[in-house]
Amino acid sequence: MTMREATTSPDIATAAGGCHGGRERMREAARQAGKSAILERYQADYPRGPHDQPQSMCPAFGSLRVGLRMRRVATVLSGSACCVYGLTFTSHFYGARRTVGYVPFNSETLVTGKLFEDIREAVFQLADPEKYDAIVVTNLCVPTASGVPLQLLPRNIKGVRIIGIDVPGFGVPTHAEAKDVLAAAMLAYARAEAEAGPVAAPRERTDRPTLTLLGEMFPADPVVIGRLLEPLDLAAGPVVPVREWRELYAALASPVVAAIHPFYTAAVREFETAGRTVLPSAPVGVDGTAAWLDAVGDAFAVPPARVAEAKNRFLPAIRGALAARPIRGRITVSGYEGSELLVARLLVESGADVLYVGTACPRTRWSDPDRAWLEARGIPVRFRARLEDDLAAVDAFAPDLAIGTTPVVQHAKTKAIPALYFTNLISARPLMGPAGAGALAEVVNAAIAGQARFAEMREFFRGVGEGPAAGIWQNLPVDRPEFKGRYAAQRAARAKAEEAVGT
Ligand code: SF4
Repeated sequence: MTMREATTSPDIATAAGGCHGGRERMREAARQAGKSAILERYQADYPRGPHDQPQSMCPAFGSLRVGLRMRRVATVLSGSACCVYGLTFTSHFYGARRTVGYVPFNSETLVTGKLFEDIREAVFQLADPEKYDAIVVTNLCVPTASGVPLQLLPRNIKGVRIIGIDVPGFGVPTHAEAKDVLAAAMLAYARAEAEAGPVAAPRERTDRPTLTLLGEMFPADPVVIGRLLEPLDLAAGPVVPVREWRELYAALASPVVAAIHPFYTAAVREFETAGRTVLPSAPVGVDGTAAWLDAVGDAFAVPPARVAEAKNRFLPAIRGALAARPIRGRITVSGYEGSELLVARLLVESGADVLYVGTACPRTRWSDPDRAWLEARGIPVRFRARLEDDLAAVDAFAPDLAIGTTPVVQHAKTKAIPALYFTNLISARPLMGPAGAGALAEVVNAAIAGQARFAEMREFFRGVGEGPAAGIWQNLPVDRPEFKGRYAAQRAARAKAEEAVGT
């Protein structure tokens, strides 16, 4: 096998870049090192703007998690030790209980191309068909910028599929979209296998046509969707990202795919290349479920009477559940999971006054019905929302409850505003159909009811100082905003100069 040498200078290994700096320099290095095509594809699939990049965890966590959740799949990271430490820590924090492989490097192995040889050797050692269906190797920022050519790895070693992906923070904006990178790479591989000959049959078979579900959901949601499909004489197919390799074939075989989460642009491309129809939005609340059942009925050419029967069966139950557990309060919603618009719809139908919806994900055609529904009710939806946008919404609206990411929750609590973590507390509940209706009420109402405690706490801690003066001091620290202002101006000037070099 021929190997292209990494062309980057050693200082990329210790790049002044990191997660939030030197992005243009890293991008330019990656282009020079032969990664132009992949970067251009990411730019088209995951458009930035209106600003540059939302603040969230390392994007590679998304693809790492997709791989770690699959049976008989090994994951190997190639990146700086600090990045790998952080990613491994986070995956175990979220209960991975699986080994994360790592091929370390130094400036010498990176620059001479030895790193790729080391990765290749590691993959050959790991490729045991008794243990694995596939091995996923992921280039993080520095190896991507250095052009480590994972595409030159063998596609298959002793029957174990090898999948190499680049997931740099300077190319993939969010961890949500990194899930798409790996899901699409696996779908592309499985599609090629299915086109070449017979492939493994699904473990569970059904005589009814299936609908593939695109997006990681609360475990009860696919079951609920299956029940919604029964009167249409349809069944829920696999959920992508899948838990097992053979599910990919069944996912591709479904004639219709429901893009429950709207950011799987590359995965949708694979389904569309396979000739599948892809539907937007999800069966959330009364309006959402009605529109979704209509769309599914159309896509499968189900007689309208059957669709009407399904609606008659489920919509009153959803309406009843929402009415039985109303939510009263003014709420801001923000997050980076991709389901923010669906959650907002459910809150609105529960009676909440939703004031703002921010999502780190981009606007796509798969969330368009949800955006239109929210905007028709005067609710602003901010795609690619920055932390600053979400904080500004909390400040401007002073809601009864802020749902958001960790810094949003912290910010709200310091203002004695009750707040809930989107990922841990909202995503950990069903959203779909009758089971989702009313499921948010308990946690949301309990949080809103806790406002008095926050006010008490704030009162209790009054006078202990804030910001740089937080805490008890003998000599109170003096804030020096002029220093921060100077650095901010210098940083902005440098970023501008880098942008100019990059264009
Ligand atoms: S791999 Fe992730 S943690 Fe490491 S520099 Fe890139 S974005 Fe940051």
